[in-house]
Amino acid sequence: MYLSLVIPVYNEEESLPHLFEAIHAALEDFPHTWEVLLVDDGSKDQSISVLKELAKKDPEHIRVVAFRRNFGQTAAMAAGIDHAKGEIIVLLDADLQNDPADIPMMLKKLDEGYDVVSGWRKDRKDTYLTRTLPSNMANGLISRVTGVELHDYGCTLKAYRREVLTGFKLYGEMHRFIPVFAHSVGAKIVEIPVNHHPRRFGEAKYGLERILKVLLDLFTVKFLLSYSAKPIYLFGGAGFGIIAISAALLLFLAIRRIFFDIAVFGSPLFQISAMFFILGFQSILMGLIAELQVRTYHESQHKPTYTIKEKINFSDKK
Ligand code: UDP
Ligand code: MG
Repeated sequence: MYLSLVIPVYNEEESLPHLFEAIHAALEDFPHTWEVLLVDDGSKDQSISVLKELAKKDPEHIRVVAFRRNFGQTAAMAAGIDHAKGEIIVLLDADLQNDPADIPMMLKKLDEGYDVVSGWRKDRKDTYLTRTLPSNMANGLISRVTGVELHDYGCTLKAYRREVLTGFKLYGEMHRFIPVFAHSVGAKIVEIPVNHHPRRFGEAKYGLERILKVLLDLFTVKFLLSYSAKPIYLFGGAGFGIIAISAALLLFLAIRRIFFDIAVFGSPLFQISAMFFILGFQSILMGLIAELQVRTYHESQHKPTYTIKEKINFSDKK
């Protein structure tokens, strides 16, 4: 199988037939094998019966995975990736905001030697104040923090080579960080503008609370990327920093006591210094516990701490 389209579906009954048509139109004379993997994320409307009908109509191309309840877009995308057979996986939304007509162009870009082609909704059709603006700010922040410069993390429409989607799991709401994880296993990423349409049917599933979730996810992602193999550097670094503050306060108190005859206990500085010392010490201990956890994480799953692109002159698998 060459190409898998992976599509999360939650309450999109009206969009689905149009989506199906648009995909067929886009892939009409596509020279390779392709499939569409739709994951029904516990829809409460008739999405699943529509999906079943479409699957019956086109068993060659349409496959459906149905969740027992709503697990969220990230879980739906993860399930789709797990069940997809294609060498190339294209993710897109079911709500017709992404345009399947962009797919052939994205595949061409992949052929130029990239591992990820990231869609960018350059001319975005969402309300500015509540969607586009916060999203632009988030994109800037994520790019800075992760070092992977993209204009549009939130755009689902992206094409991936299968290899760069293995080696990590998606939790929470982390689907927007897939390019960052892919980059961490060495993927070459390029960004291209794609079409974007206003939502025609159904309603958007997210509100402003998403901003907070993205921010918190960013902390996790940054930590995982930079310190997951060496957490003691972060915790220990912070610990020593805090202990240094504690020592500076003590020194200040000592100098005041010796040269200016001001009582150590005349101000709360001594207690504050002691508090900083305990905090710093605790932080270093937490770093040690994290080091233990990291070993459990990697060794229990036989997960290496590196990714290999190819091996030369290895006859067996070892
Ligand atoms: N979606 C999903 N599970 C959810 C919420 C959304 O599978 O719990 C799907 C939804 O059907 C759509 C895509 O994820 O295909 C993006 O959702 P939406 O259009 O509401 O998000 P936005 O365009 O605002 O990012
Ligand atoms: Mg949408």
